Amino acid sequence: MFINGARTWARSGATLEAIDPATAEVFAQVALGERADVDAAVAAAQAAAGAWAGLPPVRRVRILNRLAGLLRERTRELAELESLDVGKPLRQAEDDVAAAASFFEFFAGVADKVFGSSIPLGTGFVDFTLREPLGVSAQIVPWNYPLRLASRGIAPALACGNAVVAKPAAEAGLSVVRLAELAIEAGLPSGVFNVVTGGRDTGAALASHPGINHITFTGSVPTGIAIMKAAADHVVPVTLELGGKSANIVFADADLEKAAASAATTLMQNSAQTCTAPTRLLVEEPVHDDFVQLLAQRIASIRLGRGLDNPDMGPVVSERQMDRVLGYLAAGKKDGARAVTGGGRSGARELARGYFIEPTLLDGVARGTPLDQEEIFGPVLTVTTFRSVSEAVDIANGTPYGLVTGVWTRDLSKALTLATAVKSGQVRVNAYSVEGSIGLPFGGYKRSGFGREQGVEALANYTQIKNVMINFGPR
Ligand code: NAD
Repeated sequence: MFINGARTWARSGATLEAIDPATAEVFAQVALGERADVDAAVAAAQAAAGAWAGLPPVRRVRILNRLAGLLRERTRELAELESLDVGKPLRQAEDDVAAAASFFEFFAGVADKVFGSSIPLGTGFVDFTLREPLGVSAQIVPWNYPLRLASRGIAPALACGNAVVAKPAAEAGLSVVRLAELAIEAGLPSGVFNVVTGGRDTGAALASHPGINHITFTGSVPTGIAIMKAAADHVVPVTLELGGKSANIVFADADLEKAAASAATTLMQNSAQTCTAPTRLLVEEPVHDDFVQLLAQRIASIRLGRGLDNPDMGPVVSERQMDRVLGYLAAGKKDGARAVTGGGRSGARELARGYFIEPTLLDGVARGTPLDQEEIFGPVLTVTTFRSVSEAVDIANGTPYGLVTGVWTRDLSKALTLATAVKSGQVRVNAYSVEGSIGLPFGGYKRSGFGREQGVEALANYTQIKNVMINFGPR
């Protein structure tokens, strides 16, 4: 872990094992943080927070930009670590490093523009607002994109003058420790950014710590609820991103080739262990057979392999995650879903020791079943058919989640009807990703969470507004 500017082991000496999901082999020992380590990290952050908040903001701009530069320079090293830890193809891990650098560049750009406002009250009065940092921001990070998602929260937290204690996941998160080291190299003062490694209990100790002033969490709904309850005891604000079950709606008039290519790419992306993954395909009835066939061909050609060998798709992150996904596949079969391609653990002999699941396309998934309602978080796409715009809206809105909706159509009126009727924090029409998307406000409706990350909207999570009213006249 990384506390007050230096790498350190847990005070108790406890460790956990870092496992390569492609081979199930242990490749590192990681400090297992406990309450005493969390205490030390929070104390370091508290001690450093005031001076950091008081710096001329242009100094924060420079440090964050230097950190972005270091991330770009060390892309290969960081990508290899992320690929080994999470299992994702090296190329995708390189994209994650670039995204992390982009977050620091974006928020370096706003660090000296955290403006307040002035409010007229008539002669003899001035009134203005100050946007002040919260203090110590706890960042509880999931295993699917450790570096990218840690950076998404840490960059705006630091830009606004907060100190940080981050807690990456036990499954994967070594890159977050490296990020903290690079931050020191970039000129960040010791104690401003600390990392306590460990699992659930470490996270719980951080979330319930009386010394923190804010929590950003990305992960599952049950853990989000536990964190919100812990935060309530100290009246601490939380920003929650709790995953999704994003619909990807393909109308008959769409460019089917483009829609199929995008669906296959998002399936391969980190083995669809991605909160935004558009895993629920809703296909308009007249093109159902053509589209399923097009997509199945693409999916069947996906090459599986160890992330470091740069295949199309790697393993899932852990044995537990593999068993979870296989459980959904077994339940789906019972509920009448049909595997058009894939459907189980990879049978390839050279992959037998790792946690590899075949990229899978399931047709005829019944509404209301677990496959249709729950976040699978593995390389599985489900297909449902719809017959009208209103039915598409109905199905899209028919889960507890509301993170992203994809829409494929050439008809502007259908696109806008969907964009306004769906309950999700983002709607993406005729493209699922675009360069620069780190600047777009992002977050959930319903059980996908609340608060917006990315974009200037993220500043609302990391500042509190103070209003100053001054009477300088006769009234
Ligand atoms: P999780 O939500 O339990 O873990 C995420 C992070 O929270 C980890 O750092 C973990 O150590 C920490 N944590 C766990 N319990 C905590 C607690 N009580 N207090 C504070 N921190 C705590 O996720 P998981 O168990 O690793 O995965 C289960 C499922 O969650 C996945 O199958 C997937 O559906 C979902 N998930 C979603 C995302 C996402 O990006 N939205 C990321 C990871 C997992």
